[in-house]
Amino acid sequence: MSFKASYFAMVVIIYLIMSGCAEKREKKFRIDPGLEAQYNYFIEEAHHRGQLWGLDDLVMDFSSDLSLNGVQVAGLGGPDDNDTPHVTINSNIWETLSDCQKDNLVFHELGHAVLNKGHRNGMYSSGRPRSWMNSVILDNDDCVDFKGEYIEELFR
Ligand SMILES: [Zn+2]
Repeated sequence: MSFKASYFAMVVIIYLIMSGCAEKREKKFRIDPGLEAQYNYFIEEAHHRGQLWGLDDLVMDFSSDLSLNGVQVAGLGGPDDNDTPHVTINSNIWETLSDCQKDNLVFHELGHAVLNKGHRNGMYSSGRPRSWMNSVILDNDDCVDFKGEYIEELFR
């Protein structure tokens, strides 16, 4: 009897797994041309470390009205309503950023969207953030001076 009960449970679990696969949503891949340089840089760094080969499910775009809980944010990254990994960049803030800060922002949001990373808000005693996954975009000097270290940390 207990064998039959567990057999039934196993059949139900396998059925649930299979039906989950059958209903798999359609993949989407679309990168706004204005974000291609940063996307390509990110992928190059990922491939260099043997990660993210064959990435075929990602949307990256701009919005001129991007906020979270009523507060304007520089970018958002994560699964969208259709579970597609999605990065949206605030076009108003984008225009104010240096090249390094643009890399910082896009790598951060892709860290959420495709590397499944959360925020890492730790600081060194100097006051410099330990990670590009910090909630705040770094100032340009720290961004430039420690860029290699931040990229290394992100893919770890
Ligand atoms: Zn974030």
